[in-house]
Order: sequence, then C-alpha cells, then structure tokens
Amino acid sequence: MENTAKHKLHIYTGNGKGKTSAAMGLALRMLGHGKQVLIAQFMKQPNSGELAALRQLPGAHIVEMAPMRVFTYQMDEEGLALTQKEQTQSARQLQEEIARLQPDLCVLDELCVALSQRLIPEDLAVSLVQTGLQYGEVAVTGRGAAGRLVEMADYISTIAATRHPFQEGVGAREGIEW
Ligand code: ATP
Ligand code: MG
Repeated sequence: MENTAKHKLHIYTGNGKGKTSAAMGLALRMLGHGKQVLIAQFMKQPNSGELAALRQLPGAHIVEMAPMRVFTYQMDEEGLALTQKEQTQSARQLQEEIARLQPDLCVLDELCVALSQRLIPEDLAVSLVQTGLQYGEVAVTGRGAAGRLVEMADYISTIAATRHPFQEGVGAREGIEW
C-alpha cells in the first residue's frame, strides 16, 4: 500500500543507536518552526531526557501510553494477553488524541517493536499512521520494521550497529541512552 498523501511517513529502523534520537531531533526541528508535535513512546518508561526537555517547549504534546511492567519475554500467556489488551486500548486512545490535536508531526517511537512483539495489531498501527498523515508528517521508530508500514513509508533510514559499548558490557548511560 503506497502512501499517496502529501505528508510523508519516516521510518528509523536497524540495530544501531540513533533511531529514537533522530525522531526526537525531527520533533525539535518542527518545534523550532512553531509547529505542533505529538510524541508517543511505546514500551518505555516516560522518564527519558528527551521527554523532559521536549515537555518544556511550546507546541510539544507528550501522550503517555499504558506502562509496561516487565519485558514481554518475562510474561506468561495470561500476562501477554493482558498487555496486548492494554497496549491496544492505549493505541486507540492515542489515535483519538492525534485526531483531536491534528499535529504537524507525530512521533510514534518504538511502534515497530510493539508491532513485531504483537502487542498491537498491524491494522491499528496502519490506521494510527494514516490518521497522523491526514494532518502532518509521521515518524515511526524501532528495530525490525516490516510489513505494511514499510510499504507505506517515504523515508526509510536503517541504522547499523558497527560498534556499540554494550558489546563490552557497558550498560545504558543517563543522557546518552535515555
Ligand atoms: P537512541 O534512543 O539512543 O536513539 P535507538 O532508539 O536507536 O537509540 P533502540 O533500538 O530503541 O535504540 O534501543 C534502546 C536502547 O538501547 C537505547 O538506550 C539505545 O541507545 C540502546 N542501543 C541502541 N543500539 C544498541 C545496540 N546495538 N546494542 C545495545 N544497545 C543499543
Ligand atoms: Mg529507540
């Protein structure tokens, strides 16, 4: 399914560092032009440095998604089913929020991961993106982009991890990884 709308869909994917940072950079650029930007982060705690900074800027709208208590691989079948229900419900509310705010840019951070872990159905992800594209640009991030979003995308940037300190056992660092 091709995206024929005048607004473009951007995907930042691949296993290298920089996908979320790139999408937040795009948000910053839009905000600098006085535009309205909606930011939603799937599968994350809302405590990142980028959200704290963006919250202070006029025109930025952070939509909090249902929290994830544990990683999906730590969930039993019942826990996974409940999480799918919560995340799907949260994505539906997000879609209403996009329609209400009509932002110039929607950042849907880690949507590709939520999709590949089957936390929300692909149809809903596609309709989230289509709703965003009615009003502005949409940027989606996450490893393992696939399926209909990839078919629809106008920009696809794949970042490769040629080297990463994680390989030497260095954990996530404040201000750098979150
Ligand atoms: P960033 O948020 O720094 O822009 P990202 O969005 O590209 O990175 P994700 O794939 O979302 O990275 O991974 C989540 C976390 O893992 C981030 O803290 C990120 O910095 C870190 N990370 C990114 N690439 C790697 C890698 N190849 N190995 C280990 N950790 C990584
Ligand atoms: Mg990321």
